[in-house]
Amino acid sequence: MKTIYLDNNATTAVAPEVREAMLPYLTDLYGNPSSMHTFGGQVGRAVEEARERMAALLGAHPDEIIFTSCGSESDNAAIWSALQTQPEKRHLITTRVEHPAILNVAQYWERQGYRVTLLGVDNKGRLDLDEYAAALSDDTALVSIMYANNEVGNVFPISRMAEMAAEKGVLFHTDAVQAVGKEAIDLGKQPISMLSLSGHKLHAPKGIGVLYVRKGVRFRPFLRGGHQERGRRAGTENVPYIVGLGMAAQLAGQHMQEERTQVARLRDKLEQGLLAAIPDCMVNGDPENRLPNTTNIAFKNVEGEAILLMLDQLGICASSGSACTSGSLDPSHVLLAIGRPHEVAHGSLRLSLSEWNQPWEIDHILREVPRVVAYLRSMSPVWKDLESGKKQFML
Ligand code: PLP
Repeated sequence: MKTIYLDNNATTAVAPEVREAMLPYLTDLYGNPSSMHTFGGQVGRAVEEARERMAALLGAHPDEIIFTSCGSESDNAAIWSALQTQPEKRHLITTRVEHPAILNVAQYWERQGYRVTLLGVDNKGRLDLDEYAAALSDDTALVSIMYANNEVGNVFPISRMAEMAAEKGVLFHTDAVQAVGKEAIDLGKQPISMLSLSGHKLHAPKGIGVLYVRKGVRFRPFLRGGHQERGRRAGTENVPYIVGLGMAAQLAGQHMQEERTQVARLRDKLEQGLLAAIPDCMVNGDPENRLPNTTNIAFKNVEGEAILLMLDQLGICASSGSACTSGSLDPSHVLLAIGRPHEVAHGSLRLSLSEWNQPWEIDHILREVPRVVAYLRSMSPVWKDLESGKKQFML
């Protein structure tokens, strides 16, 4: 049975071109890029080429790119640096719907005595710019707002929010882990101070990330030691993965526009097909401002985990929330922030596509998911009561 993979917000497959680009640095070209000899020097040049490719994708200067081990490290480093370089400022602004790589770090700093504002969202997961404007103050060291949400796919008005922070002289960081490679980002035009990304969301391997730091923004390293990354991130460079990420960035730059259209078409077909075939389900999030590859659907009176398990048996990979929170039985903090009741949040399914998904896969899912939901509902006492008119279920 072939696996049908619709969990690309959790991770993506490594592209063949990326693998090919990496291979020489896992075999013959194993020199240390910091070494003085020619053998290390050629490896150093490959790292710089990858930096240029990444910078080109983001509209940044190569010197503004720091390679890290993952998106989580980049997020931690951004917050750390903003707080260390401005010790007089004691306030952080972020949102209730961030990934744990930001939320848990913000909570950590709150325990250290910082004031943390968590911006709320409305019933479509949208931020309120008036609430944001009111939260910005002279004491704010950093605003950190995700570019796009990993669970429902909402894309936030980052350019506007970064401008509002800049007007107040406040640093602005965005966790763009889900956006890079899916959304066109031009840091030349957006006054973003720092940006985090992660290779494994754009067809590079797991365990490589980037922190972009705009020229002129003061920076204190999170990881101290050697002089690598111009003294901004110690540790011998993960050369094969850096080279792979450089290739992934180049591929994303070349194909993003056409892939966005193709992926959005398949996602819309999937979403509309499910909404039409299954009674009592609805989309979570903001269909007007969403990543092209993501849909998150709430099915009343079914456990999302039960759907996932049955789909898994059919070889279909999906998710009921973020991969980092799955494994716990807590409902998604994003869906709760949107105002979904616990039982609805529990009955939600995230399907996230990539440009590698084929139309036949979508057709297959459109056959299987309605069957699975109908089967699970036929076993649900609440649903039976509902059908016989005994109970009313409010979404
Ligand atoms: N931020 C967001 C929005 C994510 O979706 C993820 C991963 O799912 C991360 C941060 C963490 O990235 P990494 O797995 O590279 O640490």
